[in-house]
Amino acid sequence: STASAKKLTIGLIPGDGIGREVIPAGKQVLQALPSQFGLNFEFVDLNAGFDYFKKTGTALPEETVQILKQSCDGALFGAVSSPTTKVAGYSSPIVALRKKMGLYANVRPVKWVEGVGRPVDMVIVRENTEDLYIKEERIFEKDGQKVAEAIKRISENASKKIGKIALEIALKRQKVRELGGSSLHTSPSITVVHKSNVLSVSDGLFRETVKGVYQSDLARYGSIEYKEQIVDSMVYKMFRQPEEFDVVVAPNLYGDILSDGAAALVGSLGVVSSANVGDDFVIGEPTHGSAPDIEGKGISNPVATIRSTAMMLEFMGYQEPAAKIYAAVDANLKENKVVTPDLGGNSTTQEVVEDIIKRL
Ligand code: ATP
Ligand code: MG
Repeated sequence: STASAKKLTIGLIPGDGIGREVIPAGKQVLQALPSQFGLNFEFVDLNAGFDYFKKTGTALPEETVQILKQSCDGALFGAVSSPTTKVAGYSSPIVALRKKMGLYANVRPVKWVEGVGRPVDMVIVRENTEDLYIKEERIFEKDGQKVAEAIKRISENASKKIGKIALEIALKRQKVRELGGSSLHTSPSITVVHKSNVLSVSDGLFRETVKGVYQSDLARYGSIEYKEQIVDSMVYKMFRQPEEFDVVVAPNLYGDILSDGAAALVGSLGVVSSANVGDDFVIGEPTHGSAPDIEGKGISNPVATIRSTAMMLEFMGYQEPAAKIYAAVDANLKENKVVTPDLGGNSTTQEVVEDIIKRL
């Protein structure tokens, strides 16, 4: 670090299980970034998670939220274990955090390792604040039988915001291509996912609103090809011809399902990153869970977290160090030598971290 380096404060929220093994990987990579980028990192360890809930009765202490808001420039979130049966008083801290920090977009890139598996290079942009996830459910009786209902809410405001960020991501990906970044695509496209043949009012509003954002600024977005897919046909095409998709934008539930499905295209959950993005904050988050089956063995794949760390930097506006990290990860995967058991290797988490750092 140099005297003129810019200081960035990063909140680290390891959470549960292997979250505690992979978050240090993200930290080490940031610390190892070459000084040419002029960044200097400071870290704050923050509590959240199911284990923390069991100790204290709260899964997300107010202090964590306050420190993120007041002192942090960005954050990394590991994983939380989800109890399989409902535990009184417990609800997911990452869901709460997204709400409290205004992180309305979940951005999940899915990119192949050249030569391994299907060619795919897409990013799923999932709306993260509404749809069925508002959890307005009720149960009542009719003719002596139970009936359950859940409300699906789609607003013009949230649809506009997600449409805009998806279009901006399409432009940003194009810029990276022009700078020589590797990509399957030669030109940008956006695919709006919906089911408005059935849900013409709610999904209809989503589709019309995103389309409206695109059409209202063709001077800016005209170079992007605009496409639409009904969600069921989207699933089919995503597995048959994944190479066709660049940026995919979807309401919350379809985005959730598509994201996990897309992860299956690239081999292991251990390499799939994400970012929770708002207008003024970003939290990088590997998409895998707390993986109790491999906890404590030192073999969790750190790649998802390292890529999420690069995504965090990217959305904070630091494209160059982010690109450097992506390239180091791609090179490690392409060589396919120092990789963890989920990718068929026999290296440890720390060995993979060191191999990637060497390539920075
Ligand atoms: P949770 O309830 O926290 O989601 P889970 O049991 O569903 O836990 P996941 O973390 O979702 O576990 O993982 C599903 C499978 O993928 C597990 O077999 C796990 O070992 C494997 N896996 C997940 N993440 C990684 C990783 N980073 N490295 C290696 N294997 C992983
Ligand atoms: Mg899981």
